[in-house]
Amino acid sequence: MKKTARVIVTYRCDRECENCCNEHIRNVPEVQFEDLLEYDEIVITGGEPMLIAPRVVELVHRLRDRRFRGMIWLYTATFNADHWAHKMLIRDVDGITYTFHADYTNRDISRLKDLTEFLNSGGFPGSYRLMVDSRVMRDISLQDIKGIRKWTDIKGLVWKDGACPVPEHEELVFYDLERE
Ligand code: SF4
Repeated sequence: MKKTARVIVTYRCDRECENCCNEHIRNVPEVQFEDLLEYDEIVITGGEPMLIAPRVVELVHRLRDRRFRGMIWLYTATFNADHWAHKMLIRDVDGITYTFHADYTNRDISRLKDLTEFLNSGGFPGSYRLMVDSRVMRDISLQDIKGIRKWTDIKGLVWKDGACPVPEHEELVFYDLERE
C-alpha cells in the first residue's frame, strides 16, 4: 500500500473540460471507509467533490472521529460562498488545490475572487494552491488575487492531453460517497 490515497469521491462534474483525466482512467479500485484509515494522507478529488460538499464534510469529520491523523487535502474547481458546506470544507481540510480551468466564465472569476476573499478573511492555517490553466493565465486579471497573500502558491497548469499521471507515492482509488 502506498502512503497517499487520491480518492475519487464522485465521477460527476459540472464542467466538461476537453480531455478530462477521468475519460482516460480505467479500473480504479473501489475502497471502503475502513481502507481509507490505513493511509497516511488523503487527497479528496473527483469529478467535482463540491457537488456533494455536505457528504464530503461528513467524510472528513468521520475520518477525524476515527482518529485519522494524516493530512487531508481537497482538489476542487469551484466555490460557492453562499453554501455552508463549501465554507466548512475549506476550513476543515489541511489545504486545497483549486484549479481555474481554460473554459472559464465570469461566474468562475467571481467564484475565485470569493474564495480568495474567504481565505483571506478566515485566518486558516492550511496550504492553499491555485493552479491556473496556462492557456488562460494571460487572459484574466489576477491582480486582485495575487495581491492577497493567502494563496500559498499560484502556478500555471500545463494541460496535457489525457496524460494525468498519479504521483509515485499515491494510489488512485474510488470511494463511492454518493452511494452511502
Ligand atoms: S473539472 Fe476536473 S473532473 Fe471536471 S471535467 Fe474538468 S478535469 Fe474533469
